[in-house]
Amino acid sequence: MLPPFQTALPVIQTLEDAGYEAFFVGGSIRDSLLGRPVHDVDIATSAKPEEVKALFKQTVDVGIEHGTVLVLYGRRQYEVTTFRTESEYKDYRRPESVEYVDSLLLDLKRRDFTMNAIAMDKTGKLIDPFSGKEAIRDKRIETVGSPEERFREDALRMMRAVRFMSQLGFEIENGTKRAIRVYAHLLKYIAVERITQEFIKLLEGVRPYEALAFLCETRLLSYLPGLEKMEMRLMPALNPALNELTESQLWVYLIKAVEPDDENAFLRKWKLPNLKRKAILRTLGFVRKRTARPWDTVMLYDAGKKTAVDAETVFCALRREDWREHTPAIEKVFREMPITDRSQLAVDGKMLMDFFSKKGGPWLKEMLREIETAVLTGKVDNQWDAIRGWLACKHPQEKKF
Ligand code: ATP
Ligand code: MG
Repeated sequence: MLPPFQTALPVIQTLEDAGYEAFFVGGSIRDSLLGRPVHDVDIATSAKPEEVKALFKQTVDVGIEHGTVLVLYGRRQYEVTTFRTESEYKDYRRPESVEYVDSLLLDLKRRDFTMNAIAMDKTGKLIDPFSGKEAIRDKRIETVGSPEERFREDALRMMRAVRFMSQLGFEIENGTKRAIRVYAHLLKYIAVERITQEFIKLLEGVRPYEALAFLCETRLLSYLPGLEKMEMRLMPALNPALNELTESQLWVYLIKAVEPDDENAFLRKWKLPNLKRKAILRTLGFVRKRTARPWDTVMLYDAGKKTAVDAETVFCALRREDWREHTPAIEKVFREMPITDRSQLAVDGKMLMDFFSKKGGPWLKEMLREIETAVLTGKVDNQWDAIRGWLACKHPQEKKF
């Protein structure tokens, strides 16, 4: 048994000692069987939330309406969820309330995919009624029970299937794939935030190329925010090199590929955090600049290293060129840049106002920019004396030197 489970054993033991059943379940079992790093060790139990809370000193009601209590134990936290079914699905979404059941088997049955429906007891024995282990061995994503029924119950599961495809490099089993084609349209009933969460995990995965192609083939893509009927645009832009791109680079690539009318509005539809949305738009701006002309030191400086590397990577990927031949040169320019940030400039606004005996105003910003550019292009050293001398030559009318 892996250390994260061992550490959690006292939680299982406490529940068992009180007469309840308790098992490890979900993603952590799947990931441990795959030899992937295990995070979030989740526990399923026959104890009701109030009973769980009574047994542990520190708990937090994170999702008590779904039967989940967060147990803080030994500086770690565990989601402890009462065995449940989700019997009344409405509008193709997860129900608001749940029904508790008294068997692990029923709890495993309500889970999405066979690979996610494996439990482990405190001795390390697996309880695997749907042959999830085999599915993991064969790298196969298949629903527990009829895919049609399971996707009608909760349409988000279709996105989860594609996300796991990218994350784990698995194939989606044929029947499951057919059902996705049929029920793709049900995704419109799902809250954007939940779709975005899965889509980000898809972009962060190791096989985003295959997953994006799958979204196009099944037309799930059309039910993602701002991507209606975009299959014809995205499909030709897809290539295996996308598997090397980061999540933020892939957002930029996606926008370049589908060319929405309004990029900002497109990103807003996904409800991304403002900072993230702005960073994507900024990188996109530099991809455009780069398309118009090659990088120069000032343009690289203005972008900053991360944005410059992201923009160059996307620019090359769009042209099917290998960016690894280009990005080291960009990194080298940054290593040799006299300054990489305005704060490193040997002069600031106050010094300039004193020097010219002039109040602040638009001239100040312009002049700082002029000095910055001169320093970057090697016209003047980044030292106050040198800059002063250079200013005296450049702006003799401004001051009696
Ligand atoms: P991750 O590594 O991304 O956390 P995970 O499999 O643990 O993957 P979670 O969203 O944390 O995914 O869900 C935990 C478990 O709950 C899943 O393994 C699965 O058994 C079950 N589950 C989650 N979402 C659904 C759903 N929409 N329908 C059915 N079961 C689900
Ligand atoms: Mg999880």
